[in-house]
Amino acid sequence: MNPTIGVLALQGDVREHLTVLRSLGADPISVRRPAELAACDGLVIPGGESTTMVKLARIFDLLEPLRDAVRGGLPAFGTCAGMIMLADRIEDGAVGQETIGGLHITVRRNAFGRQVDSFEEDLHVEGLADQVRAVFIRAPWVEAVDDDVEVLARVEDGPAAGRIVAVRQGPLMATSFHPEVGSDGRVHGMFVDLVRSA
Ligand code: GLN
Repeated sequence: MNPTIGVLALQGDVREHLTVLRSLGADPISVRRPAELAACDGLVIPGGESTTMVKLARIFDLLEPLRDAVRGGLPAFGTCAGMIMLADRIEDGAVGQETIGGLHITVRRNAFGRQVDSFEEDLHVEGLADQVRAVFIRAPWVEAVDDDVEVLARVEDGPAAGRIVAVRQGPLMATSFHPEVGSDGRVHGMFVDLVRSA
């Protein structure tokens, strides 16, 4: 059976994720309501703006259901703002910024600095044979991880070399970059495999 994978559709680049997931043989759906969330075998939380996304999640009565679902073991994959949404701890967040949480990481919001708004780099991602073209857009990085978090990728060049930009912890995955940009579905493929094996 094809897994039903939701894409949180409050804000951000939802359509691109739906397209990649469909190309991988998953059944993607947009999630805006608790009933839609309940139908999912896995959930992608897209990039966008984490402060806005969390506010909308509250307004749509989704924040607590999202927390319950992730706590209950729903596989989830956060990209960029979605990584922030899944993080237990934020540096440089807005005052009082809440998250869904679940990932035992400290994430630094807008970590690469305003002057390097966006950039691309080829990265080695653990478990993938060839490098991935990683697109960073006002991206966070992972400042610290607990022992149960596996580092999947780090920045390889420039002043941020060594910074963690992809992680996995049990059924949770997150990337600082945007794997939905371009035609390379391999990082989503790792998540679909996680959902299938959950
Ligand atoms: N800077 C954004 C935030 O704090 C994330 C940017 C993105 O998702 N492309 O939520």
